[in-house]
Amino acid sequence: MSFFDRFKKKGKEAAPKAAAAKPAKKESKPPAQGAACYTKSPESIAAAQLKMADLGDLLPGAPPNGKINLAIYWAAACGGCDVSILDINERILTVGDIANVVMWPIAADGKEHDIAEMEDGSITVSIISGAVRNTENEHMVKLLRKKSLIVVSYGACACFGGSPALANLVPGGKDEILEYAYNKVPTTANFQADYHKGEPVLPQVEYKAPEGVLTLPMLFDTVKTLDQVIDVDYYVPGCPPLQESISHLLKAVADFAYKGIALPPKGTNIGVVAKTLCEQCPRRKENRRITRIVEPHEIDVDPELCLMDQGMLCLGPATVGGCNAKCTRVGQPCRGCYGPTAAVQEHGASAMTAIASLFPVLDDDATMGEDKIIDIMSTVKDPLGYFYAFTMGKSLIKKSVVEKGGK
Ligand code: SF4
Ligand code: SF4
Ligand code: SF4
Repeated sequence: MSFFDRFKKKGKEAAPKAAAAKPAKKESKPPAQGAACYTKSPESIAAAQLKMADLGDLLPGAPPNGKINLAIYWAAACGGCDVSILDINERILTVGDIANVVMWPIAADGKEHDIAEMEDGSITVSIISGAVRNTENEHMVKLLRKKSLIVVSYGACACFGGSPALANLVPGGKDEILEYAYNKVPTTANFQADYHKGEPVLPQVEYKAPEGVLTLPMLFDTVKTLDQVIDVDYYVPGCPPLQESISHLLKAVADFAYKGIALPPKGTNIGVVAKTLCEQCPRRKENRRITRIVEPHEIDVDPELCLMDQGMLCLGPATVGGCNAKCTRVGQPCRGCYGPTAAVQEHGASAMTAIASLFPVLDDDATMGEDKIIDIMSTVKDPLGYFYAFTMGKSLIKKSVVEKGGK
């Protein structure tokens, strides 16, 4: 039985209790290795904040060497990343001064063949959001890579797979997903029964109509991050990236276009700081032991105390700073959309380690046995989905399998 299955099976027996986490009876201990505790001062919190980039006045007309060409494309995305670009506020009105927008499916017309006819390297910057999960996504990102000098991986889905990459955990891959979506969900099952009379129709990649052959993109079994498919120059994480991050991306592009200032080194994560999210978070950390796990709606959230101290699963210790702790400031635990810190490879496992270090299972505080820990963790209904909500595409866990005899 796998680690996660143990949580799931226990979860059926152990109902979560709605109660506030209480302070540990014993005095707080120094942080165990990997634990999320250290001293924070108002000064250190202020120093860890990512400031908005100074963009000066509105961008000053066309760049001296003429407008740059800009493409904005969404692969397997929800559109939130496109909308986030509007967070540059009034500067959105000046984007037409700096750039010819050669493609932006959510906002402007622009066809694949228009891009295909451009010279290689003639697009200055392509900003691509979304994961790569079908043949059309793959074709378009490869085409944009060929035509672009700079490719920016924009948002958690492009950088880490995001929520689309949770599909990698469906053991039967795309066939199981299509079967479920088009044949098992009550609305589609009823539709199939009513209109296809026991011969269900699933999406096909090719259909011969009297007028000609129609095609649809084919889903892949494995959802990929952008840099697993093409070479990427810069990353802007976040779901979606926040205003501070976008201002730094815009400044880098504007400095390059107007002043010829060199771009950041290839591979730079734009809009993040070399700190953990905890260091940007103003909440007071007391390193209380976790004896139960709660969600924000189950308790009166203390406005100043660390959410983990209150029993919530917060991914702040394993997540890189950049968003200035937007969620935790309003009482919501961090779900890790900015991705892991540079020191962390496996985001979800690292967050779990930090949380586990707060269980009272140290040698001198052995008040909790393994069964009790499993009982507590059982209250997390979807552990993989929780701890890898944004980063499954980069996880060492590539697939889930059904054990022999399992369902
Ligand atoms: S990163 Fe978030 S906002 Fe952007 S496409 Fe993915 S789900 Fe949407
Ligand atoms: S609330 Fe989350 S981000 Fe803030 S200090 Fe606690 S663990 Fe870190
Ligand atoms: S607090 Fe966490 S989930 Fe919220 S925006 Fe920041 S990194 Fe993303």
